[in-house]
Amino acid sequence: MATDRSELTSYEYRQLRARILSESDVCIVCGHDASDTTDHIHPVSKGGARLDPDNLAPIHGVAGCPVCLRKCNSEKGDRPLAEVVQLVTSVDWFAGP
Ligand SMILES: [Zn+2]
Ligand SMILES: [Zn+2]
Repeated sequence: MATDRSELTSYEYRQLRARILSESDVCIVCGHDASDTTDHIHPVSKGGARLDPDNLAPIHGVAGCPVCLRKCNSEKGDRPLAEVVQLVTSVDWFAGP
């Protein structure tokens, strides 16, 4: 019997991840391409769908983004995407002269 945890590395999940990355590799957090993994837009721990393609998006994994060098996946962690992107945007707003 498979546990919930093992589903994250299941064959089905890997297939889905490969499909999503083949369609787009633009990171949902920083907006650069060359994402090497996917993340759940609505975290599974908060009730998001684990194997729903609409809930999965490209993101930079442990290797980080080659352009801005952020580790987007660990930055995002367990938070909903809207919260993370809002934080990033509010930082940029104060970057003016
Ligand atoms: Zn990124
Ligand atoms: Zn980036």
